[in-house]
Amino acid sequence: MAADTCGVCGGDGRIHNAFGLTNTCPACHGTGRRGDHDTVFRDVTKTKPSHYLQSNKAKTEEKKKADWPGTFEGGHLATEVRDCSTLSSETKARLIREIIEYEESHGTCTQTFSRKVRKQLRPPGK
Ligand SMILES: [Zn+2]
Repeated sequence: MAADTCGVCGGDGRIHNAFGLTNTCPACHGTGRRGDHDTVFRDVTKTKPSHYLQSNKAKTEEKKKADWPGTFEGGHLATEVRDCSTLSSETKARLIREIIEYEESHGTCTQTFSRKVRKQLRPPGK
């Protein structure tokens, strides 16, 4: 049994990377055994860790950016967007991002911009 133990992870199938995360061992693909030639298993673990790291990276980058407007008018507008029942959450996220970006480039939310955003809060055709 000892001869079959994976030399990279020591047989537990997991390794710790530089980010302090636990990943499936790349040498044995989580089986803890040396010389496992299961191709299906390999395909699954090949895509999994990179996808895991990518989504983790995206989350970190998202955190660095502001996720809510800093001005009173911008925050008020974003609240209206968030509480709007006719918009999808994707549209809400996009509008709030637009408010933040507008604020960043203009320093404040103008009446014109507020009107433009509020127009999109109404159901189409009204
Ligand atoms: Zn291993």
